[in-house]
Amino acid sequence: MVSNTAGKIIRCKAAVAWEAGKPLVIEEVEVAPPQADEVRIKILFTSLCHTDVYFWEAKGQTPVFPRILGHEAGGIVESVGEGVTDLKPGDHVLPVFTGECKECQHCKSEESNMCDLLRINTDRGVMISDGKSRFSINGKPIYHFVGTSTFSEYTVVHVGCVAKINPAAPLDKVCVLSCGISTGLGATLNVAKPTKGSSVAIFGLGAVGLAAAEGARLAGASRIIGVDLNSKRFTEAKKFGVTEFVNPKDYDKPVQEVIAEMTNGGVDRSVECTGSLSAMISAFECVHDGWGVAVLVGVPNKDDAFKTHPINLLNERTLKGTFFGNYKPRSDLPSVVEMYMNKELELEKFITHEVPFSEINKAFEYMLKGESLRCIIRMPA
Ligand code: NAD
Ligand code: ZN
Repeated sequence: MVSNTAGKIIRCKAAVAWEAGKPLVIEEVEVAPPQADEVRIKILFTSLCHTDVYFWEAKGQTPVFPRILGHEAGGIVESVGEGVTDLKPGDHVLPVFTGECKECQHCKSEESNMCDLLRINTDRGVMISDGKSRFSINGKPIYHFVGTSTFSEYTVVHVGCVAKINPAAPLDKVCVLSCGISTGLGATLNVAKPTKGSSVAIFGLGAVGLAAAEGARLAGASRIIGVDLNSKRFTEAKKFGVTEFVNPKDYDKPVQEVIAEMTNGGVDRSVECTGSLSAMISAFECVHDGWGVAVLVGVPNKDDAFKTHPINLLNERTLKGTFFGNYKPRSDLPSVVEMYMNKELELEKFITHEVPFSEINKAFEYMLKGESLRCIIRMPA
């Protein structure tokens, strides 16, 4: 099947971030055809993740503007560039902010998903093949974001950053697996690996943390302790299997001490999903000596430095970190979609809001107010 737009420039609507922290503006943009090893995708649904807000605010990050943000999405391949053999027009896909070239030492290692070629690069606003943007307005380039730029009706993505999924999967639900939910789920299932009956502390009960809790529930953890500064998160967290709650603000001692007292010396596993440096340190220091494993997921600020006494490591605690829950996007994401299709994994409970594309700025407001887990943005039909 070849679409009648293949090889041509497509004019469509995209939400452009012109300046840090200013509302996005829906503009008509030109999207160039995909070059070698690239695909052009018609986005049907996209959702807002904290990382988009981070780079839009550009407080602790390098500002790159004007830019088309967005990295959680579901869509359909419109056309493919030269050399693309494993995707074709009509395929249902999830674009991913980090890729899998399948050739480098990381892609060949069973332990890593940190592809040399397509690893996330938040400062790059262009395609890797020719250093150019595929988006423009009146000939002026508009920058890409983490290789995905899904706040556009059409986008161009490197084939290594595209997961082909079951065409029966509803894209308005599985689009959230493009980033946050898979990240939290994989952080627990692939990295922390709690055993049945164990205790797990989750720091940060946003979508990523609740997905980490969902992973703990699937792994059969018997105690799942949710830690958040916002007590409003606690009611919702029960739906995700969180059994106990701790708000660090309610205590006048460090939260790691509170957790150690609750668990006879510490939890078996902890997963940090806040981006806060103090939470990262607490998440590490609250695991049990001898066997405890802490996994960092939150994206820190540029100048943050992790500080703990080395004795905490000598006492046989393990500190790990993960990108995208250690999932290899092309090889592993289709099976996460199948977990949803088999009704093992529930995604509906993560989706708290939905807006049409014309109201995309509302999705930012919901997230900034801490009201939403995931807000689905519906692209025009
Ligand atoms: P979110 O803002 O919805 O949730 C974060 C939660 O953490 C909030 O409920 C907040 O109240 C809580 N929090 C903040 N500081 C805290 C502290 N000191 N102690 C306890 N709780 C605290 O964000 P999200 O979308 O769930 O994302 C969570 C983090 O994961 C972000 O930093 C995001 O950038 C990061 N992330 C990382 C990856 C990865 O691959 N490593 C992928 C996606 C997102
Ligand atoms: Zn690779």
